[in-house]
Amino acid sequence: MSSLGAEIREQFPILHQEVNGHPLVYLDNGASSQRPRSVIEAIKRYYELDHSNVHRGVHTLGSRATDAYEGARDKVAAFLNAKFREEIIFTRGTTTALNLVAFSYARSVCREGDEIVLTPMEHHSNLIPWQQVAKATGATLKYIPLQPDGSITLEDAEKTITERTKIVSVVYVSNVLGVTNPVKELAAIAHRNGAVMVVDGAQSTPHLKVDVQDLDCDFYAFSGHKMCGPTGIGALYGKKTLLDNMEPIEFGGEMIDRVDLYESTFKELPYKFEGGTPIIAGAVGLGAAIDFLTEVGMDRIHAHDTHLAKIAYEQLSQIEGLTIYGPRDNRTGLVTFNLKEIHAHDVATVIDQEGIAIRAGHHCCQPLMRWLNVNATARASFYLYNTEQEVELLVRALRNTEQFFESIG
Ligand code: PMP
Repeated sequence: MSSLGAEIREQFPILHQEVNGHPLVYLDNGASSQRPRSVIEAIKRYYELDHSNVHRGVHTLGSRATDAYEGARDKVAAFLNAKFREEIIFTRGTTTALNLVAFSYARSVCREGDEIVLTPMEHHSNLIPWQQVAKATGATLKYIPLQPDGSITLEDAEKTITERTKIVSVVYVSNVLGVTNPVKELAAIAHRNGAVMVVDGAQSTPHLKVDVQDLDCDFYAFSGHKMCGPTGIGALYGKKTLLDNMEPIEFGGEMIDRVDLYESTFKELPYKFEGGTPIIAGAVGLGAAIDFLTEVGMDRIHAHDTHLAKIAYEQLSQIEGLTIYGPRDNRTGLVTFNLKEIHAHDVATVIDQEGIAIRAGHHCCQPLMRWLNVNATARASFYLYNTEQEVELLVRALRNTEQFFESIG
């Protein structure tokens, strides 16, 4: 039993509406979460009172906006337990953060014959950038194989990661299987082999306490919009020693030191990676989201989201003909499934008529879909404002869907 959802949902204005004549049941948090009033207010207040461009203005609004933006960086650094604030680079989200690692770091260190190690459960954002690096450098992609339940083992990781490996990049929490991968142990294996460890934290940062120093990962990427923050903002954490030696990949205003007609020099960390006017209001909103999540408590959020996924797993497995993907245990906040032969899109469309929002499709994980031998799956993903009652509504709606399709043959 977890009371968090009932307690907290009052703070999320969007949840208090009817969709197709039913109270909205929002279970698509893996794609994007909703925002509490405090985040919406922080962005509104920023635009109403403080907005200006940052870093250059000598006027009052300029310094207020700079304080707000840089204050958000401090919040992200504390939230991830980064050692230095300049280890936090604001990006558009996880995708941009991973591309920064691929195109700045990996492009310069990988050579023909080097290896980049991934898993088959990676989101396209943590797959295609590495394919591009492999094409450009002659490096080879290798995959830690999946167990029948979709998890990976450290024994397999030990076999796959070798002295030729330059980069290991793995998702912390899978957006399809819900499984939490042992990224701390993978980082240790990577380091023993002289490789760096990159973590796709898109689905972990919203749900569990992240400590990049404890994980000892070299890079960590996440998106604000999945953790109560605005869209269009996320961050890359990178160890200072690595970031210091990396070249920018975007060039222009803000990131320069001195510009001459034929040559330019660039700023120190983190600014050399933040070309152009930064995502100021986004960072302010992300900072407010971090305050909100911290006040609720990441341990409590984790316990709640895990509990909802567990009861959803148990109740959905009672439905005849419903297949759940991924391991039974160790799942963080989501359940992915198919109902008999009914297409996942049809399932999602039918239950939307009852006001229930779930995701259907390949979830940007086409190779994993092929491994699962399906074209698409349905996914219910939970967050701190969801309740046990909403899980029951989902289960009831799926039972009705199954009966409806049965009746029409
Ligand atoms: N990795 C994972 C595991 C994800 O779930 C997502 C978002 N669906 C991403 C990466 C990409 O995040 P974004 O679209 O915010 O860049």
